[in-house]
Amino acid sequence: DLRLNIVMLGDTNVGKSCLLTRFIKQRFIEKIPFKAIEYQTIPLISFNKVVTLQIWNFMGNKDYQKTIPSHYYSKADGFIVVYDITSDQSFLNARTLWMSQVLKNAQYSYKVLVGNKCDLTINRSVSQLTAKQFSEIVGVENIETSAKSGMNVENLFLSLVDKITEK
Ligand code: GDP
Repeated sequence: DLRLNIVMLGDTNVGKSCLLTRFIKQRFIEKIPFKAIEYQTIPLISFNKVVTLQIWNFMGNKDYQKTIPSHYYSKADGFIVVYDITSDQSFLNARTLWMSQVLKNAQYSYKVLVGNKCDLTINRSVSQLTAKQFSEIVGVENIETSAKSGMNVENLFLSLVDKITEK
């Protein structure tokens, strides 16, 4: 069977653990104990192929560690960079801190920029158009999700599997 290594990146609090939990358990858990979903293995069937997703939730997002260790680049088939649509700072960091490192070091791997918390429309501060334009310029996929409502969460992970396995 096929194993895919996926790395999730983004500031603390953008909802990386909740997205993973939503995808695996089909529910929203508001406070994830210890915030510590660091590694998950998820078996899937895609076009009759058995695929195992190995997802690394990069927890090095404390102030003293903003650099992605190089072994992540050699192992990863794909990167998910998450920001929170209500936080300009998280979008700035998604572009200049997280995605920029991935673009430099993992030129040929699959990359997706994810605007999470899209249920919080009244608090939106990052427009969909801005994110879409940036993604087109740098050549990455772009999607908005909500771990809370579930919107686009399956779509995010399943289309990632499709895109990676079709190459
Ligand atoms: P992480 O640090 O990136 O892993 O973030 P968490 O998954 O721990 O989520 C941080 C906070 O955002 C928690 O309080 C969650 O309940 C909340 N949260 C995560 N995803 C969503 C979402 O899609 N919508 C809303 N409204 N809140 C969310």
